[in-house]
Amino acid sequence: MKLSALALTTSLLLAGAATAQQAPLLRKPALPGKPPLPGKQGAETPAPVDPAVAALRERALHDDTALEVVTGLTTEIGPRPDGSEAEGRARDWAVARLKALGFAHVHVEPFTLPAWQRGAESAAVVAPYAQPLHIAGLGNSAPTPPGGLTLPIAWFASFNDLLLAPVGSLQGKIAFVTNAMQPTQDASSYGSEGRARFMGPSEAARRGAAAIVIRSIGTDHSRAPHTGATDFAPGVTPIPAAALSVSDAENLERMVKLGQADNRPVMLHLELDDHQLGTRPSGNVIAEVPGTDPAAGVIVIGGHLDSWDLGTGAIDDGAGVAITTAAARLLMQAGPHRRTIRVVWFGDEETGGFGGQAYAKAHAGEPHALAAESDLGADRVWRFGTAFPDSAATVIPRLTAALAPLGVVHGGKLVDGGTDVEPMLALGTPGIDLNQSALRYFDVHHTAEDTLDRIDPDQLRQNVAAWTAMLAILADAPEALVAVKR
Ligand SMILES: [Zn+2]
Repeated sequence: MKLSALALTTSLLLAGAATAQQAPLLRKPALPGKPPLPGKQGAETPAPVDPAVAALRERALHDDTALEVVTGLTTEIGPRPDGSEAEGRARDWAVARLKALGFAHVHVEPFTLPAWQRGAESAAVVAPYAQPLHIAGLGNSAPTPPGGLTLPIAWFASFNDLLLAPVGSLQGKIAFVTNAMQPTQDASSYGSEGRARFMGPSEAARRGAAAIVIRSIGTDHSRAPHTGATDFAPGVTPIPAAALSVSDAENLERMVKLGQADNRPVMLHLELDDHQLGTRPSGNVIAEVPGTDPAAGVIVIGGHLDSWDLGTGAIDDGAGVAITTAAARLLMQAGPHRRTIRVVWFGDEETGGFGGQAYAKAHAGEPHALAAESDLGADRVWRFGTAFPDSAATVIPRLTAALAPLGVVHGGKLVDGGTDVEPMLALGTPGIDLNQSALRYFDVHHTAEDTLDRIDPDQLRQNVAAWTAMLAILADAPEALVAVKR
């Protein structure tokens, strides 16, 4: 027992003896997540866990379907960028695998997208400290002119510093932004530090820069650059844009600082033979566990099938389609359920989210009870968040009790959803987040290191168990899972 609690209990007993009504003043407020001290409130009695739910959850902890799916996808297909021939082969592979797993109504819902393709890429400092650098072009980057660009660097320690540079001030320069991302369990640093990638190129272009290189949006220290899409604002002419590996960015930052000391600008040579390809085909792969009560609403879950081209798309997002598929399969084997469970392997999450938009467009008229995705790797689930209508509030204690043995806590009404299910959530579909730990996810996110050996099978199984327990409760929940106000 911790000291603070002991001291408090003794003082309470003493006070109790002296003057009863004083007790409330002495009572320390219950910290969030800290159980209230014994007394009037008392600990909440946990909801009972349906033995069938518990049994399925335990079974999932020993099920290797997810590992088999992600192994197959990364081995037999590998990198599958948006609109590419490989993404097409991945859809065919998915259809065959989902049919083999026993799902119903397995089919592809096609859509098209503006596709981008990486070509030959290189970067090197030419003066004052000549040496090559490791880079990767950002999705939607423009090509450099033939022969590349050789220009002085304009360095910014953060995206905010870039925003402070006057419009036009970067003429004849290559912008260089170095904000460093720190690992966070809830991935919150991705949103803040990622702005350098999401908007940095557009803001640099607005200020006249000929090109931009950024420190990779990653938490590793390696020479593997992290790619990822960037968006140019309407009216802004795209410029060449690339990410340096974290190690190369730190090296270039040192060179710039040395150069500033003796007024010698760092000259960078950049070559990016990256191009927009125009409209290309893509599609969502769909599979179902048919329910018995269509009016109760469809539960749509999934991850994205596409990946970046540098790695084999194991943690991003082979793990996500594998986890949700394995959980749905366990529910399928456990016999019919009230609600249909629809598994979607979304196309094109990485460069525009067209898969999620296409799904919402095609299915908006159909009653949906829930939308949820897995797209943050394969490390353990530690928290869940819910966006449920009041009519379904009574489901939460059952979820809390069923997920607690996996070390998963309820984080309240925290639902971000994700790129693929966001369009359905925006329509008012109830949502749930099963939050995975992101402490090491951004070490290999969008790099050549995104390979199968980065997945810990035990943590992958814990994910399947969390999704299985969640589905086992929601697929047969008697409560009405109707639209929520957002
Ligand atoms: Zn992803």
